[in-house]
Amino acid sequence: MNKPKHRIITIANQKGGVGKTTTAINLATALAAIGENVLIVDLDPQGNASTGLGIDRKDRKLSTYDLLVGSQSVLEVTMPTAVPNLAIAPSTMDLLGVEMEIGRESDRVYRLKKALEAPEASIYDYILVDCPPSFNLLTMNALAAAQSVLVPLQCEFFALEGLSQLLETVEQVRSTINPGLDIQGIVLTMFDSRNNLAQQVVSDVREHLGDKVYHTLIPRNVRVSEAPSYGKPAILYDLKCAGSQAYLQLASEVIQRERQSRAA
Ligand code: ADP
Ligand code: MG
Repeated sequence: MNKPKHRIITIANQKGGVGKTTTAINLATALAAIGENVLIVDLDPQGNASTGLGIDRKDRKLSTYDLLVGSQSVLEVTMPTAVPNLAIAPSTMDLLGVEMEIGRESDRVYRLKKALEAPEASIYDYILVDCPPSFNLLTMNALAAAQSVLVPLQCEFFALEGLSQLLETVEQVRSTINPGLDIQGIVLTMFDSRNNLAQQVVSDVREHLGDKVYHTLIPRNVRVSEAPSYGKPAILYDLKCAGSQAYLQLASEVIQRERQSRAA
């Protein structure tokens, strides 16, 4: 049987602090733990995914900046992490200059897509792209390159408002730069069961978006928030905590959806 082509999932939400990077790191780790070969592409100039996976700033010689400006390949930019089967294309502050650098090029939104189409990237089963908190050229590159987008949504009052803007953007991307873009799913994050408002947000989001929303709820969990300061995914830092267990469950839903979309 031929090895299936890798799946590229972009993790996006124009809001900051909703759990994009935490989801990227822990979903990637969960996929790697079951034997998938995984690459995280850190497209946020903040570089939280890189730091959270223990990649020291001083060790980042090359970054996704070099991928986008086209001077280096995935192979050259990618670094191993402490997690077996998980590699990262790290970010540096150089990314802030990408817009200046390539903003006038006609292929500016397709730079990441092109880089990930290289034969050397086909060793990965999953590529997860962590986005900055805005709809800028970096996020557009991520949406252009992906087969699907996974949206973390924080269980708070304004969640739905931001979501409708995001869904509109996905529609625009579909009608212009990437007709094949699917919504992998929407994951509710930082859920606090003691908070009535959070419960209400969950039922509102489920009512509006039905089965696009994963069954898995990611709980607010202090172990999850501590893990990055040790340069570790929560799943390595404390496998038993509720947050880690939820991310493992999310990974199985993601895989199931990927299988369904491949079969379709
Ligand atoms: P984004 O990438 O969307 O900006 P992050 O993943 O960096 O969001 O999360 C924002 C903050 O919330 C971080 O400090 C992170 O550690 C914390 N956080 C994320 N998910 C959880 C969770 N399930 N429980 C507790 N803290 C969390
Ligand atoms: Mg982030």
